[in-house]
Amino acid sequence: MTQEQYQAIMTEYRLQREKNAEEEARRKEEVRARDPELGWLMTERHQMVLDFCRRAANGQEKGSPVDMMADYNARIRERLLRDGFPADYLEPVYRCAKCRDTGLMGDTVRRECDCFKARAAQLEDRVSTWRESFEAFDEDLFPDTPLEGQSITQRQLMKRVRQVCEDYADAFPSQSPPDLLLSGSSGLGKSYLLSCIARRLRERGHTAELVSSYDAVRLMRDAYFGREDGTDRLFSSELLLLDDLGMEPMMENITLEQLFNLINSRRSRGLPMVISTNLTMNEIKKRYSERISSRLLDVACCRLVMLSGQDVRLLRR
Ligand SMILES: [Zn+2]
Repeated sequence: MTQEQYQAIMTEYRLQREKNAEEEARRKEEVRARDPELGWLMTERHQMVLDFCRRAANGQEKGSPVDMMADYNARIRERLLRDGFPADYLEPVYRCAKCRDTGLMGDTVRRECDCFKARAAQLEDRVSTWRESFEAFDEDLFPDTPLEGQSITQRQLMKRVRQVCEDYADAFPSQSPPDLLLSGSSGLGKSYLLSCIARRLRERGHTAELVSSYDAVRLMRDAYFGREDGTDRLFSSELLLLDDLGMEPMMENITLEQLFNLINSRRSRGLPMVISTNLTMNEIKKRYSERISSRLLDVACCRLVMLSGQDVRLLRR
């Protein structure tokens, strides 16, 4: 599963939880409107809990509110039934009771819920119908005219680059050097080639995460600020394919620090990366700190591949 898919599923869960909360609020209103006395009972129960908490915080309460709660709950259920509602009408609403629509189960060790796995499998199915693959790569899309200042045509260059990428994917994880960086302006097929590599690796049973640099930075920022932490796949997949480096928003030192962390952490554990970027080598040096660019552009670790020519997406129109 790609980072985007993981995020998409997590977003679905968040939206579901928001819907649940709306439904719970709607039911309360409905119940209060139909039976004001039952509404009072709900308010009293709520007040009772608040009072108890206040007393407990002041050390004036040693007991437990369980018995009082049970008494209120029983009276409320009884009244719900009498009013023609289901007895559990005011209980929390979930689509999946096992994970309470979080996708994860367990307190300390969190594991994916069955409903999460089912949804992931569904998305994975869709991936296998992706059209991007080395087999479908059509070099005839690229003009067979000489590149400016070079002796080969754009089509010949793309044929070579495609071969570099396919060899990389087939040799994985013993390819040398471990990393690959594709540099060139938009519309030269870089993202397409990254998809091809990711697909080939998955077909060969490896984990490959394809994520835009923009999304990767957003994920790390969310984790940094204590929101949902979806960064695990960035750090632990066998291959990380980072698309469009340079398009991520720069937030002071945080972005640089996080990018450095990611690159450094992967490299120190021998986990390779494939990166695509519209930036030139000089622009990379300018945008990122020395410690990032020196790692990215270290030819001992990374094969640099330059693409050039015309934007084929524009040519096709
Ligand atoms: Zn679940």
